[in-house]
Amino acid sequence: MNGLVKDLARLIGDSKVLFQPEDLLAYANDATHYFRTQLPDAAVLPTSTEEVARVMSYAHQHHIPVTPRGAGSGLSGGATPVKGGIVVDTKRLNRILEIDRANMTASVEGGVVLQNFHRAVEERGLFYPPDPQSMSVCTIGGNVATRAGGPRGVKYGTTGNYVTGLEVVLPDGSIIKTGGKFVKQSVGYDLTHLMTGSEGTLGIITGVNVRLLTLPPSTRTMVVVCETLDQAAEIVSEIIARGAVPAMMEFLIKLAITVMNNYVDPPLPTDGEAFLLIEMDGTPAQIESDIKTIKEICNEMKAREVREVDDERAAKAYWNARSNIYPLIMTIFNRAISEDITVPRSRIPDLVRAVQEIAASVGIMIGLAGHAGDGNMHPTILQTEINDEMAAKAKQAIELMVRRGLELGGTISGEHGIGIHKQEFLDWEFDQVQIDLMKRIKQAFDPYGIMNPGKIWLEGGEQ
Ligand SMILES: Cc1cc2nc3c(=O)[nH]c(=O)nc-3n(C[C@H](O)[C@H](O)[C@H](O)COP(=O)(O)OP(=O)(O)OC[C@H]3O[C@@H](n4cnc5c(N)ncnc54)[C@H](O)[C@@H]3O)c2cc1C
Repeated sequence: MNGLVKDLARLIGDSKVLFQPEDLLAYANDATHYFRTQLPDAAVLPTSTEEVARVMSYAHQHHIPVTPRGAGSGLSGGATPVKGGIVVDTKRLNRILEIDRANMTASVEGGVVLQNFHRAVEERGLFYPPDPQSMSVCTIGGNVATRAGGPRGVKYGTTGNYVTGLEVVLPDGSIIKTGGKFVKQSVGYDLTHLMTGSEGTLGIITGVNVRLLTLPPSTRTMVVVCETLDQAAEIVSEIIARGAVPAMMEFLIKLAITVMNNYVDPPLPTDGEAFLLIEMDGTPAQIESDIKTIKEICNEMKAREVREVDDERAAKAYWNARSNIYPLIMTIFNRAISEDITVPRSRIPDLVRAVQEIAASVGIMIGLAGHAGDGNMHPTILQTEINDEMAAKAKQAIELMVRRGLELGGTISGEHGIGIHKQEFLDWEFDQVQIDLMKRIKQAFDPYGIMNPGKIWLEGGEQ
């Protein structure tokens, strides 16, 4: 046991400190399997906010880098300890503290797994819409830190729209509480939403207050089979423009459907090039009216088929397979680099066309899936071979896609965050004035630069 490990064990107890190389290996990366970073010097698993504060205070005193981590399901390298130091694993901060029906709010610890929270509120007829597809593992603290979204973003918005208050351990170990159970507040700067999306660079989120909705009384799933990717994108744009708001509207290419079909029964149709998996929710009358509009649009735009899924079990299986599309795709490819470009919804057809042109011109395979309803597409570079030539092509294709997304009025990340994956594009989206302002905010929170260093900003803090 080295000095650091002994000190941490003294602060929070030795059963909460990991230091063996095989344990630390589990913390060297997140779901972006293509970044190999160094092992941390130690990982801690605190069970209370006070323990997190003790660790942070110690790290602050000794200028030791600290990387907060939820489930490590991030797709931007955000939880990777690029400078070593201590990883704070929040998964033992896993208590649902309160579900308040009268106020339609809930209060949870930062390490609560999202799916467990969904189940707990739904058992009470309540609804927490944010639904990153990693929900079976990802933590609510991680969702807040990345401002995560999901298919329901089209109708209900993303994590940031539900967070009303936070408990945060700052880099010097002090504990602050922002916001509260109330759904509005106008008191000074909005630190709750400054922390939301801060990717672990300003503090560790140990508690989260969220607002809840009433569980929609019914849902219905439909599948639209399209002749081409362009046609699917045009249909998405038209559905939004005509005001039929699905709860979820996912864009999938044939490869995705074919892979999903290994896991669902009955199989989804495969006789098209692109597919929309749509869920409507609300009262039966609302659902019928929206389905009618969507069918009219699909008929006018000559979709190949519109299929309603009457079997609830099958619908559930389709959405479950959709959630797992990334791991399913990884059964075929050795590397999948998922981009997170988000454009105004009317520009989805332009983005889809651009991705196809870029794939053809660069000579690389780019899969397309995404939360099309909110303009968030995940063009994914798919590689069976990993070598320098493929890496150069992937880099070229990513740069072209990001550039085109920005030209279309979009953003480089709709939900995954910058982490290390998109650092080089930060100044493509923001001017230097904004970047400098953000860095001054970071400096005010974290004068020694110990909090998740090496993220958002390029190495050395320069941009
Ligand atoms: C199969 C799959 C599907 C996915 N689908 C989606 C999707 O639909 N939508 C979406 O938005 N994302 C998706 N993701 C990405 C990822 O799941 C989300 O970014 C999620 O919010 C990360 O949560 P986590 O607990 O795993 O955080 P981690 O990956 O552990 O961390 C992510 C970032 O948050 C910071 N962080 C984590 N916890 C805290 C905390 N308590 N306090 C402060 N900072 C913290 C970390 O330092 C890091 O910068 C997917 C990932 C996978 C593998």
